[in-house]
Amino acid sequence: MTATIIDGKAFSARVRAEAGRKVMVLKEQHDLTPGLAVVLVGEDPASQVYVRNKGKATVEAGMKSEEIRLDVTATEQEVLDVVHRLNADPTIHGILVQLPLPKQVDEMAVLDAIDPMKDVDGFHVINTGRQAVGLPAMVPCTPLGCLMMLKDTLGDLSGLNAVVVGRSNIVGKPMASLLLSENCTVTIAHSRTRDLPAVCRGADILVAAVGRPEMIRGDWVKPGATVIDVGINRIPKEDGKTRLVGDVCFDEAVEVAGAITPVPGGVGPMTIACLLANTVTAACRQAGIDEPEV
Ligand code: NDP
Repeated sequence: MTATIIDGKAFSARVRAEAGRKVMVLKEQHDLTPGLAVVLVGEDPASQVYVRNKGKATVEAGMKSEEIRLDVTATEQEVLDVVHRLNADPTIHGILVQLPLPKQVDEMAVLDAIDPMKDVDGFHVINTGRQAVGLPAMVPCTPLGCLMMLKDTLGDLSGLNAVVVGRSNIVGKPMASLLLSENCTVTIAHSRTRDLPAVCRGADILVAAVGRPEMIRGDWVKPGATVIDVGINRIPKEDGKTRLVGDVCFDEAVEVAGAITPVPGGVGPMTIACLLANTVTAACRQAGIDEPEV
């Protein structure tokens, strides 16, 4: 059996277009232009690419985009000052501080300073807590994108066995919490898990968020399972260049799974699309209006 390939690129284009249509309605009917600010500290090349792509996507969706760049030597107070200014700016509805931050800046202190209503990355503990107890919350973009793809592929997830490999605060834990909200029976696996292949084989839904190239082999996958590969790993090629691979050995897993996301072109494009969707949601909540149906 060869798995259905879940096309994150095509799906993300739909989500982005929908965000754009909502922005048009908000502008026309409410004179509201959602605004997203991205704060970048330092010059990490990968972060610069992400920030540029986020800014471009924001403008394409018709929103206001602001980019704040601080030197790699910026103090924690300087970063906090920027966050406080953005919290108070009524034209900015979403604030994203690009991680990682330089070591002199306490990441938790900065995330904690973001107004939870403007926390479009969904990393503030208030949003983590609200999501966990089933209240409206800003949900982290990557797990949200994974959940959208799962629901699009499988429909109702109720009762399915879900295994999330990885327990980071930005992917693994919120992913597990979202799957629990969808009534899955959830197992969270991590570096101390015993017999990980056997744990994975029990999964109807297998989400890999580890950061280890092709760690999850084809014979770890239950026949017919849906596999979501969050991993982005760059590995050397014979010609001296590099290529991107996920945490799942795609060539093996595709022969066993029922559906699978590729890397690249799976989860990655969904993350920015969900950031736009979250910014629209945040703008509507701050303005006290219902999100437009489009
Ligand atoms: P972290 O490094 O924060 O977390 C990795 C997790 O994997 C940890 O919980 C760790 O366990 C677990 N782990 C490590 N080794 C093993 C092992 N041998 N067996 C089982 N579990 C293991 O990573 P992130 O969650 O931030 O990211 C995970 C991957 O997803 C990375 O490749 C990253 O690049 C990618 N990513 C992709 C995004 C996208 O938009 N597509 C967005 C964010 C991340 P323990 O807690 O015990 O140490």
